[in-house]
Amino acid sequence: MALVNAAEMLKKAKAGHYAVGQFNINNLEWTKAILLTAQELNSPVILGVSEGAGKYMTGFKTVAAMVKAMDESLGITVPVALHLDHGTYEGCYKCIKAGFTSIMFDGSHYPFEENLAKSQELCADPDECKTIADLGVDMLAAGIGNIHGKYPENWQGLSFETLDKIQAKTGEMPLVLHGGTGIPADMIKKAISLGVSKINVNTECQLSFQEATRKYIEAGKDQQGKGFDPRKLLAPGFEAIKATVKEKMELFGSVGKA
Ligand SMILES: [Zn+2]
Repeated sequence: MALVNAAEMLKKAKAGHYAVGQFNINNLEWTKAILLTAQELNSPVILGVSEGAGKYMTGFKTVAAMVKAMDESLGITVPVALHLDHGTYEGCYKCIKAGFTSIMFDGSHYPFEENLAKSQELCADPDECKTIADLGVDMLAAGIGNIHGKYPENWQGLSFETLDKIQAKTGEMPLVLHGGTGIPADMIKKAISLGVSKINVNTECQLSFQEATRKYIEAGKDQQGKGFDPRKLLAPGFEAIKATVKEKMELFGSVGKA
């Protein structure tokens, strides 16, 4: 099935009170693991690509070509969106040209007027969020105490009060929660009940890949037989990504929603 825009997917998710996971990709193994898991669980999915990962994979054109070809050759039938994560103004243009089906413009470092003028997301003030919603943006990522990477010991948790106010002012617009790694399950569920319909997961897949790969090498398996074959060496990490994606899709409630 051809790649789809994330907007339709998220509207459905918001109406159905579940969230679609965005899982960031870094290479072929990541992409394959996420696509296969989505298909196995009959779940819609968003593949996220950061500017850095895009560069690493030699450019957005390469990424789009790989994802499209893999989607086809694996016979994936669930909806898949290819999304630019935290894009610059220039990056957004490049991705649209390369065939990405969804983009995030990260204007959070601009003054609000400039962010708005440049056209979309990220804010924590409910009134600013309303102004953005009125523009007709497909989705909005607002800061509600969430952070990227691992959460510190003394983290205060998500601000549901802010989320509730933003939701009240932005209406039907799907809200996005970044930094999905390590947020307790009950907070994730509450955020979904308050209108979050897209949750970004990046670090958690990296950590499970790392842990599985480390175990393989520490057990000396890379030195047994043909254990050094990259297809064998990367297999435990690949399976670990699949397990993490499955766990998240179950938590987000997107299983069976394709
Ligand atoms: Zn993010």
